[in-house]
Amino acid sequence: MSIITGKTKLLGIIGHPVEHSLSPVMQNAAIERLGVDYIYIPFPVKPENLATALNGFATIGVMGFNATIPHKQAIIPLLSEITTTAQLVGAVNTVWRTETGWKGTNTDVIGFLAPLKPLKRPWNTIKPIILGNGGAARAVVVGLAELGCPEIAVVGRDPDKLGQFKQSWDESALTASITVHSWDELSGLVSESELIVNTTPIGMFPHTDNSPVDSFIWEKFPKNAIAYDLIYNPSPTQFLKDAQQQGLTIIDGLDMLVYQGAAALEIWVQQSVPGEVMSQALKQYLFA
Ligand code: NAP
Repeated sequence: MSIITGKTKLLGIIGHPVEHSLSPVMQNAAIERLGVDYIYIPFPVKPENLATALNGFATIGVMGFNATIPHKQAIIPLLSEITTTAQLVGAVNTVWRTETGWKGTNTDVIGFLAPLKPLKRPWNTIKPIILGNGGAARAVVVGLAELGCPEIAVVGRDPDKLGQFKQSWDESALTASITVHSWDELSGLVSESELIVNTTPIGMFPHTDNSPVDSFIWEKFPKNAIAYDLIYNPSPTQFLKDAQQQGLTIIDGLDMLVYQGAAALEIWVQQSVPGEVMSQALKQYLFA
């Protein structure tokens, strides 16, 4: 590890809890590879201490930080500016210092799109399905709209939350239209969909045998469809194993995690960041 001196610049992540965050592992690996004089530290910040923490960061010269649960929405009123992406998602995960105060964006959208963009599909004819309507689903919606998907079907279990989710985009600049559906409706949606994204935690370690969809559903997808699970542990999940067995293209959540982090570090250090170094550090930490 590089030597920390009085000149070393501070980066980090705020969350509550924050001790399970994988960001320090991958960010410090990239910092070391780049040879820049920074260090990335986990900062446990309780919700009631958020404003105090930000003032403290300004006082001690923190250059930038990530925000995770439960701060991604609550931090917005404390920032001087947020990007249009963060406005659309309604959440901030990356903050940096400017002359006029803290500025925030949401790099989850970049992370989500990283493994999709190279696939070069006719996105403007694809009607994706998103399973779940929580925080990550919001970044997925914004990413899919950015790709050019005209209509996005969102499947959820709570009609009130689904309705609020749909309504939250009504007055927004989102270019895609959103339809919302109960889980019972899923099997009727899949034959016309070439992309399904799991944003629920179903199948996450240690509940690795679980899948958000019944295995018979995979037969109904077009053969060129993509199954994308935001979960990165295990990899592949049961959801992805079942999809792969039917010949679908599969994508796990590791690249999203890596490339949201790489995009944040690029903002802070103003240079291109080696995503593969971050990916290797994570795989080593998680699976070796
Ligand atoms: P969240 O805000 O809590 O949303 C979870 C969504 O899943 C909610 O809509 C919830 O429904 C639904 N859900 C949970 N359990 C369910 C069940 N048993 N049956 C049906 N629906 C269920 O969480 P999040 O922040 O969006 O994260 C979701 C997942 O994405 C997690 O596994 C997380 O690790 C992963 N993620 C990965 C990355 C990455 O970089 N790869 C980034 C962000 C998130 P209700 O609203 O009705 O409770």
